[in-house]
Amino acid sequence: MSELSRFFIELAERWQRRWREAKIFEPEPSPGVPKFFITAAYPYPNGAIHIGHGRTYLIADVLARFNRHMGRVSLFPMGFHYTGTPILTIAEAIAAGDKTVIEEYMEIYGVPGEEIKKMGNPLYLARYFHQQSKRAMEKFGLGIDWAREFTTIDPEYQRFIQWQFEKLRKRGLIVKGRHPVGWCPRHSMPVGAHDTKDDKEPDIGQWTLIYFTDEEGLAFPAATLRPETAPGVTNLWINPDADYVVAELDGRRVVVSRDAAFRLSFQGEVKALREAKGREFVGRRVQNPVTGEWVEIYEARFVDPQVGTGVVMSVPAHAPYDYAALRDMGIERMIPLIRVEGYGEYPAKEVVEKMGVKSQTDPALEEATKEVYSAEYARGVMREDVAERVGQHLPEPARSMLRAVFKMFFAGRPVKEARDFIARWLVESGLGGVMYDIMNKPVYCRCGTEIVVKVLEDQWFINYGDPRWKEAARKLIEEMGMVPSDAKTHFLATVDWLDKRACARTRGLGTPLPWSQGWVIESLSDSTIYMAFYTVIKKIRQFGIKPEQLTEEFWDYVFLGQGSAEDVARRTGVPPEALKAVKEEFDYWYPLDSRNSGKDLIPNHLTFFIFNHVAIFPREKWPRQIVANGWVLREGDKMSKSKRNVLPLDKAVEMYGPDPLRATLAIAAEVEQDLDFRDAEARRNAQQLMAIYTLVQRIAQTAEERAPSWLDLWLVSEIAQILERAKNAYQRVRVRQAAVDVLYNAKSAFDQYLSMVEKPSKLAVEAAKAWAVAMEPIAPHLAEELWAVLGGRGFAASAPWPALKADPAALLAKRYVDMLIEDVKKIPAFGPGTKKVVVYVNRRFSWAKEALGGDVRAAIQAGVPPQMAKRLVDLLRSLGEEVRSLVASVENFDELEALRSFQPYVEKTLGVSVELYDAEDASAPDLGGKKKTALPLKPGIYLPS
Ligand SMILES: [Zn+2]
Repeated sequence: MSELSRFFIELAERWQRRWREAKIFEPEPSPGVPKFFITAAYPYPNGAIHIGHGRTYLIADVLARFNRHMGRVSLFPMGFHYTGTPILTIAEAIAAGDKTVIEEYMEIYGVPGEEIKKMGNPLYLARYFHQQSKRAMEKFGLGIDWAREFTTIDPEYQRFIQWQFEKLRKRGLIVKGRHPVGWCPRHSMPVGAHDTKDDKEPDIGQWTLIYFTDEEGLAFPAATLRPETAPGVTNLWINPDADYVVAELDGRRVVVSRDAAFRLSFQGEVKALREAKGREFVGRRVQNPVTGEWVEIYEARFVDPQVGTGVVMSVPAHAPYDYAALRDMGIERMIPLIRVEGYGEYPAKEVVEKMGVKSQTDPALEEATKEVYSAEYARGVMREDVAERVGQHLPEPARSMLRAVFKMFFAGRPVKEARDFIARWLVESGLGGVMYDIMNKPVYCRCGTEIVVKVLEDQWFINYGDPRWKEAARKLIEEMGMVPSDAKTHFLATVDWLDKRACARTRGLGTPLPWSQGWVIESLSDSTIYMAFYTVIKKIRQFGIKPEQLTEEFWDYVFLGQGSAEDVARRTGVPPEALKAVKEEFDYWYPLDSRNSGKDLIPNHLTFFIFNHVAIFPREKWPRQIVANGWVLREGDKMSKSKRNVLPLDKAVEMYGPDPLRATLAIAAEVEQDLDFRDAEARRNAQQLMAIYTLVQRIAQTAEERAPSWLDLWLVSEIAQILERAKNAYQRVRVRQAAVDVLYNAKSAFDQYLSMVEKPSKLAVEAAKAWAVAMEPIAPHLAEELWAVLGGRGFAASAPWPALKADPAALLAKRYVDMLIEDVKKIPAFGPGTKKVVVYVNRRFSWAKEALGGDVRAAIQAGVPPQMAKRLVDLLRSLGEEVRSLVASVENFDELEALRSFQPYVEKTLGVSVELYDAEDASAPDLGGKKKTALPLKPGIYLPS
């Protein structure tokens, strides 16, 4: 711990204690006063929270604090997510003596040996990290309302979740049945994003299997994502060195890779009959079930036995890999199937030749494949003559009938349609099948086992595939605010592909499914509407309402306004005034104004949050905004336990102090960008905050009462402008922009001011107080200290947003003086030898305003002397937008007076003395003939030699 960080930690502890004593973060509803209710995703207490969590919580805290300054009653609560496998798998690993996990927990999280022994118990583990995370949040200075804290295994919470699930079931959104899910073979349990290593969402995809059969009736199920190319198959590929099995698959004898047989065993009956190397099948002839053609099995080492079935069909006209591999073997045989604008008969051959692909191992094939596949999928149309290729082996009239069907639904159709048709036809006719697979494999369960796809028969699902439900979710996505706004596309895409999702497990902590024994609601399903629970739990406890009184009628009344308090009181035994008070809290705080989390939760949690809100709550209670922030890297690297570079939040607070850490997490990247946390930058921010502290001390100690000068007015105006910009940035969740303004730009303005004045004025104290309030959301402890030093009343955290007003004349004066300084510096004769600068000022500011219009003739008509008009119009045109608008808004501006008050500043900056004359003053000497060159806003300048 450095001296600097010790300073900031001690400062923070003092203010955290005072906040706690004053309960300023425990708001009560205040009818008639606007409110702001914000939540961030609660953590799983399965480890210490790190600076990645810290970033999300900081953004929420900044918004909560900012909205408090805007006069809103601001609520930011927090809970802890005990549910499911994230906790359980770690506890199990520790109980089993897993050396890696134990080492990680001791080294990275600093868990003492005494404690780690007890962490085989999942509840103990959760309680430990719950308390540890809570302490870290407090030390970090989050303004959390702890009076509403809960865990997801509290009995009140369980009653609430059971109510939610009964509602979903009654609305027909919970179904039981057969469905593919990600599955851990070791745990025999479905796994979703929060059960996998690195929280990777398993992408479940579907291969179409096409049974190519040899003369003995042995089937080779080729797995393909492009079944529409089946009529163009010239051969199959098998890896000669890989392990295969002959197996019985749903009553059919098949050859698949051993790995595929294992994966298929989770989706149907698979019985291995014997093992074999792939080479045994090379050279065998098999019949294409679509065309009836006989093709040969060739060997290919590029066939990956872990992908699909390990049996691959070859379509050289439309697949660059197949074309290149056959070309290597000296074979060129292609069957054209698809027409694509911009390509000839054989797109694969064309692209391979265009890209100069040398052989089947050429890495450019990846790119070639992408090009052909996406062009064909987007714009391809099946050729009319493909129907003639179908059913060549069938007797009449079967052949003609089949071709008629293909003419109608396949030939001449867009690739997308043809693909859907033939995939369905293959399954229905028994010539093919379906195999599910993890398309982004490998994905590992937290226990380290690679997950597979299992088709579950008796599983409970939330049916996110329901089209009417999807429609309502889309409506909410359209109308709610999103940061960043392009996240909307991501959400809409997720809504499109989401289907049934397993919602209960047979193990782990959590809430039992209310209607079926032996099931626990899993962690991404019991965390979708809990923001509503924060609004009521405090009063439920205050009134001593018992969990068993939290019945369906209770929640229906509180959340949905059904029934009367008297009725519900009779049925539950909860007094009517208690019911009314609980309901009032909910009605005051809901809807949620902002939901914050990392962007990794968009395809799961945040989308479920949207779905469940539209299913359960009436429209006026739907949430209003989602903020999804980017990752946190550390010194350019992804943080991971295996690299030992995870930085726990409490440790980071110790290293830098809470405010410097907050400043760094706010300023190092804009909200949606990935943030690279760097030690050097955190130290630099600590120095900056220290400099702010020193600067404000100086202002407080030396400020004097005096009539405001141009400089004093300029400072107030400059700060007013910066704070206005910061306010807009906070409002648009541009936290980095706000932090740059309040921590750096405002500081520069004060620095400049202090360098220009002998002593600061009392106006500077007012400006500094305003500044303290504006920086409070980001550096709240420092802000409180400054506020107190400057004589502010109460807490900076509770102060209204400052009402400083910018005076355009004061701003214009400073810009004008800076322009003059630049003009002098540009004079070639200006240099170390220069002793004095003589300045002639043209005080006819009204002429400058006339010239602003840009019309020389109009300016002359308005009284600008003709010999000056053109130069003046050109000058005004050359000024920046800011100065032009200042000129427009200022009525009277006396250049001479402005220059006099800035004279010490000009002299100090240029390092010479300055002599000022009014250009129209007849008694002034006309040195170098510069008197008449003076224009309004552009003085005549003379350098005596
Ligand atoms: Zn597992």
